[in-house]
Amino acid sequence: MKTIIAANWKMYKTRAEAAETGRDLASRLQSLKTDRMVLVFAPFTAIAAAADELRPFAAVGAQDVYPALEGAFTGEISPAMIKDCGAEWVLTGHSERRHILHESSDFVGQKTAFALKEGLSVMLCIGETLAEREAGQLERVLSSQLEPALRDLPKDILADRFAIAYEPVWAIGTGKVASESDIAEAHGMIRNLLSKFLGSVAGSIPLLYGGSVKPANAPAILKLDNVNGLLVGGASLKAESFSQIVTA
Ligand code: PEP
Repeated sequence: MKTIIAANWKMYKTRAEAAETGRDLASRLQSLKTDRMVLVFAPFTAIAAAADELRPFAAVGAQDVYPALEGAFTGEISPAMIKDCGAEWVLTGHSERRHILHESSDFVGQKTAFALKEGLSVMLCIGETLAEREAGQLERVLSSQLEPALRDLPKDILADRFAIAYEPVWAIGTGKVASESDIAEAHGMIRNLLSKFLGSVAGSIPLLYGGSVKPANAPAILKLDNVNGLLVGGASLKAESFSQIVTA
């Protein structure tokens, strides 16, 4: 399976800034000639600018999607609109949406299923809070976030166009990286839950780790069992640090 290194630009970068970082990153990726898959999740307004600069060295994704074709959903963005801007991927269930915007696992599940059915590739983010971890709830939380997203989905779609990012909430943007044993334990648990829900296709779904990944800690995390890539927030905003992670 190809290793995926993904950038989450969150709510940063105007069109001009996205184009500038995209241009810088594309020229670095061109000389790196990596066989890793590089993805950039840009804000909606900067998707087209980023995609124009990054193609063909990296694919671009949106950071959210609404689960309807079109309609009276003020402020929302459909899968067709995302594809129209040049994105092929979408993130669902990022912890900032679950916790700041109170998105439920059921709603995240609807978004995941709808985006896949409409032809986007989806990276579903899951992860526990510190309180849940300390209460021994890790497996229950991961299972309750996975199950609504995987219900009723054709298995061939999941094998080709689906990835999961494990991002412990307490490690996102905090500088606190989960320990190598915490990451290996959670990724093993997720692989087992996927087998329980999906059967043999579980082995072909990439599992990424996210949470304060930097050029210095990326190589060790990528060596862990069941880690097939990284989702990077803060350290992805500059092409220099992100391209160091791409080759970590
Ligand atoms: C993220 O936004 O998904 C993330 C992991 O952020 P950071 O790398 O800044 O912790």
